[in-house]
Amino acid sequence: MKYGGNTACIELRFENPERLIIIDAGSGIRQLGDYIVANDLPKGPIRAEIFLTHTHWDHILGFPFFTPIYIPGTKLKVYGPSTFEEDSLADVVGGQLVYRYFPVRQAELASDIEYLDLKEDRLDLGDGITVVTDPSYDEAMAREGEQVAAEQNQRIEEFMKNADFIVHDAQYTRGEYESSRLGWGHSTFEQTIAIAKRAGVKRMALFHHDPVRTDTQIEEFTAKYCDSAYTGDTEIFFARENAEIEI
Ligand SMILES: [Zn+2]
Repeated sequence: MKYGGNTACIELRFENPERLIIIDAGSGIRQLGDYIVANDLPKGPIRAEIFLTHTHWDHILGFPFFTPIYIPGTKLKVYGPSTFEEDSLADVVGGQLVYRYFPVRQAELASDIEYLDLKEDRLDLGDGITVVTDPSYDEAMAREGEQVAAEQNQRIEEFMKNADFIVHDAQYTRGEYESSRLGWGHSTFEQTIAIAKRAGVKRMALFHHDPVRTDTQIEEFTAKYCDSAYTGDTEIFFARENAEIEI
């Protein structure tokens, strides 16, 4: 499979070789963990910061299969959104590590894991890295006249202004979304590309493909949605498993 197979997980590497940031702990993090153990562990203990965009199952289910959590000396900071329920992030993510679901319990892990609940924040991580967390873009709510949604959308567009590179969820065509996926919480190709063009984004990867997509379908979408006649000055492409992008 060329374009997908795993759920969301993005690895960020920086000039500073000590620095490792992981975005989302979907099933892709299992493979990343194996890579880290083979390539980073021989150089010293593993330190990483994991940012969870949200705690839906497909974004956290790889966590128990991330091998570094079983290795003494590993230090992880796991950041994720505060939930509206009473459960802390540690309960939501680490709660997968209970006997009901998994043979190893969170308390038995050899690594040092710190959980940090995020609200709408702006974090300076050093090395020139800033993390900004915002609620997501909501086209439908804005169209219904929700002022908060309209302002939020505006903020996101400002944030994306002239960006060199954006990775954006885009799971459906507008037709698919409006016919049967309303309220499923995902973006459409059309909406995402339109925002990128308005914001003057230079390059954008569309990711989080619908799990039922085939490579052939994505290639058809590429012909339709990534053509410069449609995308203008913004380069758009569909994210692929193990793709490496240099910025
Ligand atoms: Zn998802």
